[in-house]
Amino acid sequence: MNKDELKEAEKRLLAEKAVIEKDMARFKETLDFGDDIDHGEEESDESEEMGNYLSVKKSQDARLEQIEKALGKIASGTYGVCENCGAKIDGELLKVNPESLLCRDCKLKAVSKK
Ligand SMILES: [Zn+2]
Repeated sequence: MNKDELKEAEKRLLAEKAVIEKDMARFKETLDFGDDIDHGEEESDESEEMGNYLSVKKSQDARLEQIEKALGKIASGTYGVCENCGAKIDGELLKVNPESLLCRDCKLKAVSKK
């Protein structure tokens, strides 16, 4: 990857991070916890919402962590190198998925392992 591509990847990662953080903040705002404990019916809705929020938060936190990691790699000059096998990650793959930390092969293996 050349410098321009790295810069572009960094820009996209930062933008993605900002979007996720904004989304999560908004999501959290739409939930109001504990205000109407007395209404039995709404309580179940709330815990469902809460569960939904937590599961979304969990996956978004994982994405943020990956983005942070990718940004750290850009800073340290190891971006675009597969975490698993050390191979260069396909530039096309990084364009589609800039937070990618694995090469195509390792990604496929990771998916099939699950
Ligand atoms: Zn690999």
